[in-house]
Amino acid sequence: RIEPVTAQVQGIFDRLEQELSTYRSDSTISQLADQAGVAPIAVSDDAFRVLSLARHFGELSEGAFDVTVAPLVNLYGFGKRPTPAALPSEEVIRAQLKLVDYSRLILKDGTAFLPLKGMAVDLGGIAKGYAVDRAFDSCRNAGIQDFLIDLSGNIRVSGRPQWGEDWQIGVRDPFDRSRIIGKITLRSGMALATSGNYERFVEMGGQRYSHIIDPKTGYPVTGTAGVTVLAQDATTADGMSTPFFVVGLKGADRLRQKAPSVDI
Ligand code: AMP
Ligand code: MG
Repeated sequence: RIEPVTAQVQGIFDRLEQELSTYRSDSTISQLADQAGVAPIAVSDDAFRVLSLARHFGELSEGAFDVTVAPLVNLYGFGKRPTPAALPSEEVIRAQLKLVDYSRLILKDGTAFLPLKGMAVDLGGIAKGYAVDRAFDSCRNAGIQDFLIDLSGNIRVSGRPQWGEDWQIGVRDPFDRSRIIGKITLRSGMALATSGNYERFVEMGGQRYSHIIDPKTGYPVTGTAGVTVLAQDATTADGMSTPFFVVGLKGADRLRQKAPSVDI
């Protein structure tokens, strides 16, 4: 019977959301921001693991993935604050950029600490993938073999579908959401994540900006419409989709060499 397992999976999603969301003022992640520059806080095993993995993807992508990007995410109104009418000035952007540096996130003995007041983390680029992996393990542990988990485009499969040999996932055309530009076949255990500018964007000064920010410049990324990453687990697929989106076609080869097990 599948019902107890779906309830368990929902429980995992709810618990992780409560701990990892920036939108909840009582989440671990909000406490971490509140205590920035003050004191380390004790975090759960899950929070510690996601934060460690986020740091890892930061290093792997040479900073294209930066979990401390939250001040910029907020500046453009993707987070808690409203979107400004026009693109903020270079000066304002640069001031926020000073607070963005994943290598300054200190993780030690089950605690996390951000050394500067105003620093904050945003796990939006990795937490869904992590949640999918937790759910995946829970389904497998319950003895279920054939299933697919999809958390807003973060997908991981096991076994095979009722109607065939392999799970096939359609990838949407970023320029026309009603069209599928290709199908990807996923072997059992594999995961897929898509970062797209059509999912979330804001308009400032009549221009559209994506919800993914280049931590090198401080500006929202332009020039990438979408990227789909295939990996051995959903955390890696999610954690790598965001930096591939940032570096674009130009930087894709270099990033691929750093992460040979992923495919784009
Ligand atoms: P995804 O859809 O997985 O690419 O994640 C996008 C989300 O990650 C955004 O909504 C932000 O919350 C966050 N984010 C934006 N830019 C970055 C970045 N350069 N590194 C890490 N996370 C980011
Ligand atoms: Mg991602």
